[in-house]
Amino acid sequence: MKKHNFFAGPSILPQFTLDETIKAISDFAGTGLSLMEISHRSKQFVAVMDEAQALFKELLNIPEGYSVIFVGGGASTQFAMIPYNLMKSKAAYLNTGAWANKAIKEAKNFGEVVEVASSKDKTYNYIPKGYEVPEDADYFHITTNNTIYGTEIREDFDVNVPLIADMSSDIFSRPIDVSKYAVIYGGAQKNLGPAGVTFVIIRNDILGKVDRTIPTMLNYQTHIDKGSMFNTPPVVPVFAALQTLKWLKAQGGIAEIEKINIHKAGLLYDEIDRNPMFKGTVEDVADRSLMNICFVMNEGFEQYEKEFLEFAANKGFFGLKGHRSVGGFRASTYNALPVESVQALIEAMQEFEKIKS
Ligand SMILES: *Cc1c(COP(=O)(O)O)cnc(C)c1O
Repeated sequence: MKKHNFFAGPSILPQFTLDETIKAISDFAGTGLSLMEISHRSKQFVAVMDEAQALFKELLNIPEGYSVIFVGGGASTQFAMIPYNLMKSKAAYLNTGAWANKAIKEAKNFGEVVEVASSKDKTYNYIPKGYEVPEDADYFHITTNNTIYGTEIREDFDVNVPLIADMSSDIFSRPIDVSKYAVIYGGAQKNLGPAGVTFVIIRNDILGKVDRTIPTMLNYQTHIDKGSMFNTPPVVPVFAALQTLKWLKAQGGIAEIEKINIHKAGLLYDEIDRNPMFKGTVEDVADRSLMNICFVMNEGFEQYEKEFLEFAANKGFFGLKGHRSVGGFRASTYNALPVESVQALIEAMQEFEKIKS
């Protein structure tokens, strides 16, 4: 049976990434050794790291003056590293959900946090608008894609202080104007590679402004100065991420991927809006995520939630259960998810509708 992988993260990767990584794990770069048993300082792995950084910059069109680093610890460690490195006394945060809250919690260890707006009143099913960012904030932090609730900020806007974005679950889904941001970070395991590597894009001139002593490993400058080789980097995840970057380039780059993402998400949202059994949880179409599509059973059909999940599981669908904090369903339509899987899900929804009506 064909499998359809809608997991939210770790999540589907291109077949190319899996195939190339499997090959390298058995014989890396013709050395006869595994990628897992060769020095990260070998010329073969240094070439992987260099190419990953270069291709990352190329695909995102990252301007001069920015560094790209690959570190461990997940996006969750960035929640602390951001204020550690950048917050003098005050920072502004947009509260769009669980991940934003975790970032806010860490920032409070370093100074005053101003929550400029929150969508908590409606279980984070929209992106707050019309807020003001205090001019004396050291930075403004946003979460561009809210993986759990299916909302997304798909615009690179201007703000009066340095802008910092957690792009864990929508990096490489659309072209971004990196020049609008001071820092962009995220875990790889949603749209880039396996868990274990975290990317950080940093505008170099933002660093060196805080007085506190920063532990070596938590200091961005350490990893910039050493090209992400201060200590042993997550070798296998970096290699796998490079394969995804190569795959992205072969697809025609991110502008092409975005077109496919708009098409895929559009098909599924159209069915959710049409099918009387289902209902989208994000009302404002402009706030709907292209990566995580959240929906529930419509009024009157709530009793079928579990049954639909079982029905779908029997048809080879994985990962459709909504996050435990919100329930319902979540179909993650990351870059690597083929349009055929979206079409198969739509067919399953239509079949379920026929059975129940
Ligand atoms: C998954 C996720 C995180 C957490 O990432 P880890 O790498 O597990 O720490 C943070 N932010 C967003 C938006 C996410 O989707």
